[in-house]
Amino acid sequence: MSAAPLLRQVFGFDGFRPGQQEIVEAVAEGQNVLAIMPTGGGKSLCYQLPALMRDGLTVVISPLIALMRDQVRALTEAGVAAAALTSGNSEDENAEVWRALSARELKLLYMAPERLASGGTIPMLKRAGVQAIAVDEAHCVSQWGHDFRPDYLRVGELRAALGVPLGAFTATADSETREEIVARLFGGATPRTFLRGFDRPNIHLAFQPKDGPRAQILNFAQARRGQSGIVYCGTRAKTETLAAALNDTGLPAVAYHGGMEAEARRAVETRFQREDGLIVTATVAFGMGIDKPDIRWVAHADLPKSIEAYYQEIGRGGRDGAPAETLTLYGADDVRLRRGQIDEGLAPPDRKQADHARLNALLGLAESATCRRVALLGYFGETAEPCGNCDICDAPPETFDGTEAAQKVLSAVLRTGESYGAGHIIDVLIGNATDRISQRGHDRLPTFGVGRDIPKGQWQAIIRQMLGRDLVRPDPERHGGLAITAAAHAVLRGEERVTLRRDLVSKARPAVAIRTQVDDEDAPLLSALKAKRRALAEAARVPAYVIFADKTLIE
Ligand code: ADP
Ligand code: MG
Ligand code: ZN
Repeated sequence: MSAAPLLRQVFGFDGFRPGQQEIVEAVAEGQNVLAIMPTGGGKSLCYQLPALMRDGLTVVISPLIALMRDQVRALTEAGVAAAALTSGNSEDENAEVWRALSARELKLLYMAPERLASGGTIPMLKRAGVQAIAVDEAHCVSQWGHDFRPDYLRVGELRAALGVPLGAFTATADSETREEIVARLFGGATPRTFLRGFDRPNIHLAFQPKDGPRAQILNFAQARRGQSGIVYCGTRAKTETLAAALNDTGLPAVAYHGGMEAEARRAVETRFQREDGLIVTATVAFGMGIDKPDIRWVAHADLPKSIEAYYQEIGRGGRDGAPAETLTLYGADDVRLRRGQIDEGLAPPDRKQADHARLNALLGLAESATCRRVALLGYFGETAEPCGNCDICDAPPETFDGTEAAQKVLSAVLRTGESYGAGHIIDVLIGNATDRISQRGHDRLPTFGVGRDIPKGQWQAIIRQMLGRDLVRPDPERHGGLAITAAAHAVLRGEERVTLRRDLVSKARPAVAIRTQVDDEDAPLLSALKAKRRALAEAARVPAYVIFADKTLIE
């Protein structure tokens, strides 16, 4: 049967969503396909519909039992012969699936990747008349993503054993993940790749520097009372404290993080799915399994770890196409936290460099002087017009020509041998003769003191914006010392101007941090530290943070 009538009769849709039709056609023709589509874009249909257009069975590899069950239930209700083989099945259920398979009754078989580890599975599938393999959430094969699932590596084996076409589906767009998917799932053969439609025009984009962050989140949530929302937090502890704070203001909120029992997590997922107006305060553990179309807002109490993570997380809002709002908070502490996580991670140096660049891209977006959507889509390789649906378009910030300041920073970085962090560079610029400065002879450099006219906090803001524009980069080979990039040469030569945001520079204040060796589970100590932080913040009139040994932090 052809696509259009099936689309209506089986799925009840009037037409394709952008991008779906060409993917459906390629899969139905038996091509190897890699399809990258935003979350909520309708990837499931791109393998379900072709499965019905062809003879034989399509095996779907999917990482989450709950998602498999939902899909099988929906398909069965629509009259499609579909089943799932999962560890959650009873023995009777599994026996029935095996029977249906050998009788060649099924059109779609969902399977967790772990199933492929048991020796009998692949031979059994060889006898079951499989005509295609579909891999959902294909980025789980990427070793460097936070969703890595080792058993996804076996899918390549399955493809080789069956010799059938494979379709891989994901929302993760960056080119490295794409290359890993191709290498591991397609055995190096180049699949036909579909990559498009990253814009989610109904989602309003906004960022704010942290300035009383708890109140910022509470106010944002208050103004959206009655609407379902998610607050992403940088630590497990914060999910709990924020949920409590929201409850105190009369808003229904529950915490969700990877440290909770599976059952408790599932209870939150179910409640969120069913209840209107519930807020979930969560770590990134809350994500893939969430299929709620009417999430009206997504807030980040802390900066996500990369521009990709940001995009995925805000993308959980407004899947029904109706307006959704976002607010992402960021501060110097976030940047330190994320850089520390990258530097102390196990990735090889070139990977760390790439991770720093992804973080810088997000920083650039956070401190963008122009439309955020143009910047975001530009990162994913799409061009766009100023959107009219972001905080910058709503109220363009005042900018100034920061070329001269940027040149001073760049020359201080060069003259100190591209080996020092922002703190040292600023000491050179403002002429602060610390011990380290005099030991290294940096007080004799021509750049020493050339930036005295600008206070320290403003230099921090300028360097942050320069990181965001990828003019300087922390070099993990040199303990995170700043190095200049190719783009910076044009600035140094005066061929490129640097436009900076005035609001971010003039408001900038230095932050202070309390460092501690305790972990964040120690409640009495935690509250003592919090009190100290509050006192410090009030006395010094600057943001203050508690930084734990493991680099988690509270403000
Ligand atoms: P993804 O896996 O890309 O995140 P899903 O496959 O879960 O997205 O689809 C998201 C939502 O869009 C689902 O509720 C699905 O029923 C709906 N959907 C998919 N294709 C269409 C279509 N052509 N018309 C209307 N709704 C669609
Ligand atoms: Mg999906
Ligand atoms: Zn805009």
